[in-house]
Amino acid sequence: MTLDRESTPPIRRVPRSSPIALSTLRVGIGNDLHPLVLGRKLVLGGVHIPFEHGPIGHSDGDVLIHAICDALLGAAALGDIGRHFPNTSRRWKNVSSLVFLQRVRRKLAVSGHTIVNIDATVGLERPKLAPHIRRITQKLESALGLKPGQVSVKAKSGEGLDAVGRGKAIRADAVALLSS
Ligand code: MG
Repeated sequence: MTLDRESTPPIRRVPRSSPIALSTLRVGIGNDLHPLVLGRKLVLGGVHIPFEHGPIGHSDGDVLIHAICDALLGAAALGDIGRHFPNTSRRWKNVSSLVFLQRVRRKLAVSGHTIVNIDATVGLERPKLAPHIRRITQKLESALGLKPGQVSVKAKSGEGLDAVGRGKAIRADAVALLSS
């Protein structure tokens, strides 16, 4: 198939004077996976989701925040969540992962990075996250001092496959773009 020059839109180039020049952009990736067990609280993005199962974890097991922290730290080349908040430390036992997110926010500010946007996907079989997505997104934007539209959260089921699909685990994947 040949490209139709008439219908191909012109390539828009980012001007050198743009406040977000290409050379200052940094991307990061993060993911997390926790087993789900009966009787644990399910917290995602700092929002409590009513459900009979929740993740086992040293902290509150908030996979979404953990994946986002790793994406942000990775984009800034500042290591990973385990380095900054080790699960061997009693200090982080049962702590809200919002604390990690706020600390990562400060680390980015100190190192001169600004968040452009975050995109994340939560993988879980049940419950359906659609009714909670708006609250989760707003909570994350607020914790990071971001405007509406800078954080995107999506949900996907495991289609009955693997540990997520069988309802035995919850996972999250995130990418973050920073400007510096
Ligand atoms: Mg984790």
